[in-house]
Amino acid sequence: MSSKNVLLIFRSNIMYKPVIYRLARDFDLVFNILEAKILPRREGRILLELRGPDDIIEKGIKFLEEHNVVVEPLSDKVWREEENCVHCGACVGLCPTGALSVDETDKKVSFDVKKCVACGMCGLVCPFEAMRDVTLFDPFAEGRTKY
Ligand code: SF4
Ligand code: SF4
Repeated sequence: MSSKNVLLIFRSNIMYKPVIYRLARDFDLVFNILEAKILPRREGRILLELRGPDDIIEKGIKFLEEHNVVVEPLSDKVWREEENCVHCGACVGLCPTGALSVDETDKKVSFDVKKCVACGMCGLVCPFEAMRDVTLFDPFAEGRTKY
Protein backbone atom coordinates (compact mmCIF):
# COMPACT_ATOMS: atom_id res chain seq x y z
CA MET A 1 0.00 0.00 0.00
CA SER A 2 1.43 3.38 -1.05
CA SER A 3 0.18 6.89 -0.57
CA LYS A 4 0.49 9.93 -2.77
CA ASN A 5 -0.53 13.51 -2.10
CA VAL A 6 -1.77 15.45 -5.10
CA LEU A 7 -3.29 18.82 -5.84
CA LEU A 8 -6.46 18.62 -7.93
CA ILE A 9 -7.60 21.68 -9.88
CA PHE A 10 -11.20 21.84 -11.10
CA ARG A 11 -11.87 24.54 -13.65
CA SER A 12 -15.28 26.19 -13.59
CA ASN A 13 -16.83 23.90 -16.23
CA ILE A 14 -16.22 20.75 -14.19
CA MET A 15 -15.95 21.94 -10.60
CA TYR A 16 -19.36 20.58 -9.58
CA LYS A 17 -19.02 17.20 -11.31
CA PRO A 18 -18.85 14.32 -8.81
CA VAL A 19 -15.75 12.48 -9.96
CA ILE A 20 -13.74 12.01 -6.76
CA TYR A 21 -16.11 9.45 -5.25
CA ARG A 22 -15.41 7.21 -8.23
CA LEU A 23 -11.83 6.76 -7.05
CA ALA A 24 -13.30 4.66 -4.26
CA ARG A 25 -16.14 3.09 -6.22
CA ASP A 26 -14.31 2.19 -9.43
CA PHE A 27 -10.69 1.87 -8.26
CA ASP A 28 -11.05 0.85 -4.63
CA LEU A 29 -8.70 3.68 -3.65
CA VAL A 30 -8.80 5.23 -0.20
CA PHE A 31 -8.78 9.01 -0.36
CA ASN A 32 -8.50 11.67 2.27
CA ILE A 33 -9.27 15.31 1.55
CA LEU A 34 -6.53 17.31 3.28
CA GLU A 35 -7.75 20.72 2.24
CA ALA A 36 -10.28 22.19 -0.18
CA LYS A 37 -10.72 25.72 -1.44
CA ILE A 38 -13.51 26.77 -3.77
CA LEU A 39 -13.76 30.03 -5.65
CA PRO A 40 -17.41 29.93 -6.80
CA ARG A 41 -17.85 29.74 -10.58
CA ARG A 42 -14.10 30.08 -11.08
CA GLU A 43 -12.02 27.25 -9.72
CA GLY A 44 -11.80 24.61 -7.04
CA ARG A 45 -8.61 23.16 -5.54
CA ILE A 46 -8.35 20.08 -3.41
CA LEU A 47 -5.33 18.61 -1.68
CA LEU A 48 -5.94 14.90 -1.73
CA GLU A 49 -4.13 11.96 -0.21
CA LEU A 50 -4.57 8.78 -2.24
CA ARG A 51 -3.84 5.37 -0.77
CA GLY A 52 -3.63 2.07 -2.60
CA PRO A 53 -1.26 0.06 -4.80
CA ASP A 54 1.02 2.24 -6.96
CA ASP A 55 -0.45 1.08 -10.27
CA ILE A 56 -4.02 1.68 -9.09
CA ILE A 57 -3.14 5.15 -7.84
CA GLU A 58 -1.76 5.93 -11.29
CA LYS A 59 -4.93 4.58 -12.92
CA GLY A 60 -7.04 6.75 -10.62
CA ILE A 61 -4.99 9.81 -11.53
CA LYS A 62 -5.35 9.00 -15.23
CA PHE A 63 -9.11 8.70 -14.75
CA LEU A 64 -9.24 12.17 -13.16
CA GLU A 65 -7.17 13.67 -15.97
CA GLU A 66 -9.46 12.07 -18.55
CA HIS A 67 -12.29 13.93 -16.84
CA ASN A 68 -10.42 17.22 -17.24
CA VAL A 69 -9.21 17.49 -13.67
CA VAL A 70 -5.70 18.94 -13.51
CA VAL A 71 -3.62 16.71 -11.24
CA GLU A 72 -0.35 18.06 -9.91
CA PRO A 73 1.99 16.20 -7.57
CA LEU A 74 2.47 17.96 -4.28
CA SER A 75 6.23 17.75 -4.76
CA ASP A 76 5.82 20.55 -7.32
CA LYS A 77 4.07 22.71 -4.74
CA VAL A 78 6.05 22.35 -1.53
CA TRP A 79 9.80 22.43 -1.56
CA ARG A 80 12.81 23.43 0.45
CA GLU A 81 15.35 25.99 -0.66
CA GLU A 82 18.33 23.87 0.33
CA GLU A 83 20.79 26.75 0.42
CA ASN A 84 18.58 28.61 2.92
CA CYS A 85 18.19 25.74 5.37
CA VAL A 86 20.66 25.81 8.29
CA HIS A 87 19.17 22.65 9.87
CA CYS A 88 18.17 24.49 13.01
CA GLY A 89 15.30 22.04 13.59
CA ALA A 90 12.67 24.68 14.40
CA CYS A 91 10.26 23.17 11.89
CA VAL A 92 10.60 19.54 12.94
CA GLY A 93 8.39 19.51 16.04
CA LEU A 94 5.59 21.34 14.23
CA CYS A 95 5.44 19.08 11.21
CA PRO A 96 2.35 16.91 11.79
CA THR A 97 3.34 14.08 9.48
CA GLY A 98 7.05 13.54 10.08
CA ALA A 99 7.90 14.92 6.63
CA LEU A 100 10.57 16.96 8.39
CA SER A 101 12.77 14.94 10.68
CA VAL A 102 16.25 14.91 12.14
CA ASP A 103 18.60 12.36 10.68
CA GLU A 104 20.29 10.85 13.70
CA THR A 105 23.51 10.07 11.84
CA ASP A 106 24.42 13.61 10.78
CA LYS A 107 21.84 15.59 12.82
CA LYS A 108 20.63 17.30 9.66
CA VAL A 109 16.96 17.95 9.00
CA SER A 110 15.63 15.92 6.11
CA PHE A 111 12.50 16.69 4.12
CA ASP A 112 10.41 13.85 2.67
CA VAL A 113 7.89 15.44 0.32
CA LYS A 114 5.97 12.15 0.07
CA LYS A 115 4.86 12.59 3.67
CA CYS A 116 4.05 16.30 3.31
CA VAL A 117 0.41 17.38 3.48
CA ALA A 118 1.13 21.05 2.70
CA CYS A 119 -0.17 22.33 6.02
CA GLY A 120 2.21 25.30 5.81
CA MET A 121 3.38 25.17 9.44
CA CYS A 122 7.06 24.87 8.53
CA GLY A 123 6.85 27.96 6.32
CA LEU A 124 5.44 29.95 9.22
CA VAL A 125 8.21 29.08 11.66
CA CYS A 126 11.28 28.82 9.46
CA PRO A 127 13.45 31.87 10.23
CA PHE A 128 15.27 31.59 6.92
CA GLU A 129 12.34 31.18 4.52
CA ALA A 130 13.66 27.80 3.47
CA MET A 131 10.27 26.07 3.23
CA ARG A 132 8.12 27.26 0.37
CA ASP A 133 4.67 26.48 -0.95
CA VAL A 134 2.05 28.20 -3.01
CA THR A 135 -0.95 26.08 -2.30
CA LEU A 136 -1.95 27.22 1.17
CA PHE A 137 -1.31 30.91 1.30
CA ASP A 138 -2.48 31.76 -2.17
CA PRO A 139 -4.25 28.74 -3.60
CA PHE A 140 -5.17 30.54 -6.78
CA ALA A 141 -1.68 31.81 -7.52
CA GLU A 142 -0.17 30.83 -10.81
CA GLY A 143 3.21 29.29 -10.18
CA ARG A 144 5.60 29.69 -7.34
CA THR A 145 5.71 32.93 -5.42
CA LYS A 146 7.71 34.10 -2.46
CA TYR A 147 5.83 34.74 0.78
S1 SF4 B 1 13.21 25.79 10.30
FE1 SF4 B 1 13.99 26.27 8.25
S2 SF4 B 1 16.23 26.45 8.52
FE2 SF4 B 1 15.41 25.37 10.32
S3 SF4 B 1 15.58 23.19 9.77
FE3 SF4 B 1 13.52 23.84 9.22
S4 SF4 B 1 13.70 24.41 7.03
FE4 SF4 B 1 15.78 24.34 7.85
S1 SF4 C 1 3.98 21.77 4.93
FE1 SF4 C 1 5.78 21.58 6.27
S2 SF4 C 1 4.96 21.20 8.33
FE2 SF4 C 1 3.32 20.77 6.85
S3 SF4 C 1 3.45 18.57 6.41
FE3 SF4 C 1 4.67 19.61 4.84
S4 SF4 C 1 6.75 19.65 5.65
FE4 SF4 C 1 5.39 19.19 7.39
